[in-house]
Amino acid sequence: MERFTLIRNARLDQRTTFRVPARAAWLADVWKSSALPPLLAETAAGERPLLLLGDGSNILFTRDFEGLVIHLATRGIEILADDGQQATVRSAAGENWDGFVRWTLAHGFSGLENLILIPGTVGAAPIQNIGAYGAEVREFVQAVEAFDIIEQRFTRLSNAACEFAYRDSLFKRRPQRYIVTAVEFLLHRQRPMQLAYSGVRRQLDVMGINRPTPTDLGRAIECLRRGKLPDPTVIGNAGSFFKNPVIPIEHLKLLQRAHPDVPYHAHDHRACKLSAAWLIEACGFKGMREGDAGVADTHALVLVNYGGADGAQVWALAERIRNTVADRFGVSLEPEPLVI
Ligand SMILES: Cc1cc2nc3c(=O)[nH]c(=O)nc-3n(C[C@H](O)[C@H](O)[C@H](O)COP(=O)(O)OP(=O)(O)OC[C@H]3O[C@@H](n4cnc5c(N)ncnc54)[C@H](O)[C@@H]3O)c2cc1C
Repeated sequence: MERFTLIRNARLDQRTTFRVPARAAWLADVWKSSALPPLLAETAAGERPLLLLGDGSNILFTRDFEGLVIHLATRGIEILADDGQQATVRSAAGENWDGFVRWTLAHGFSGLENLILIPGTVGAAPIQNIGAYGAEVREFVQAVEAFDIIEQRFTRLSNAACEFAYRDSLFKRRPQRYIVTAVEFLLHRQRPMQLAYSGVRRQLDVMGINRPTPTDLGRAIECLRRGKLPDPTVIGNAGSFFKNPVIPIEHLKLLQRAHPDVPYHAHDHRACKLSAAWLIEACGFKGMREGDAGVADTHALVLVNYGGADGAQVWALAERIRNTVADRFGVSLEPEPLVI
């Protein structure tokens, strides 16, 4: 099999979950990580902008991309070490994330069930340190294998070297440096389950389960997610469009004077995290529509493409939301997806 395929002036419309029109000057589908050095040499990648694209579930194109887009289609999951209680499991970057989570549950490992049904690839999971229902992928990442574009060599970064933070990592801050080729996870067979997140226990009750297994917890979270988030195969979207803003405690106290009901979570001893969804809903955007761009009626954080919107229209709506929230609450919202 060829190790990569290269298309010039490629359409990207079906390559992102927003399904907005866009083209890339070059698009490479890579089937083996070892093809990266010859691909980068053949396309003179050092002289043009470079973009890694997984399943496109966290990217909004507002214009064409005048460079090389690389999509890793590499596959393979293997157990590198297993002492019966914990194991190191390695997955190629191109594996589907949700498929990988289900693989771990089927093999008796627990922990990743809170992250079930998140769209995208394994290789993209460390980029923004994906998180949901009280868990983040950084809790399970042992190391990330990558191609270092600057050093022109394959490398392996420990968990600490990845500098994970809330929806952030070294890779997100240095997008032109690393191509993630595989992720190594440290997974346990017995691990306390994370059930505290709002709605989880209630959903388990509805399912008649009072002593859940990790698989039961995964099923409960699946139900909760399907009820709240629009299915990107039906309505274009990239999940949450904004991060939950982290603000200093003094700012929260000022906000509470005018809005005593503003919800928040402790972040650290100096800052707290607000609900971006609450702020957006309070400004009246939930369920609104401008042409084919809109805000989902089930979740104020999710911007949607009802079919004919282009990326610039979605972005214009996002800007309007940001400006309104900033004027009303003095809080700045930061987009979660990569906006091109
Ligand atoms: C319905 C829906 C629900 C979602 N729910 C959640 C959620 O609960 N929690 C959450 O955290 N996210 C969520 N997301 C966002 C998204 O699923 C994740 O960010 C996911 O990890 C993106 O994977 P992807 O393969 O689609 O990456 P892409 O969107 O293709 O890329 C995302 C970023 O990663 C970079 N990238 C991709 N692959 C590589 C690689 N191999 N090496 C280096 N960089 C790379 C890209 O350049 C880009 O910056 C949701 C999205 C949707 C559509």
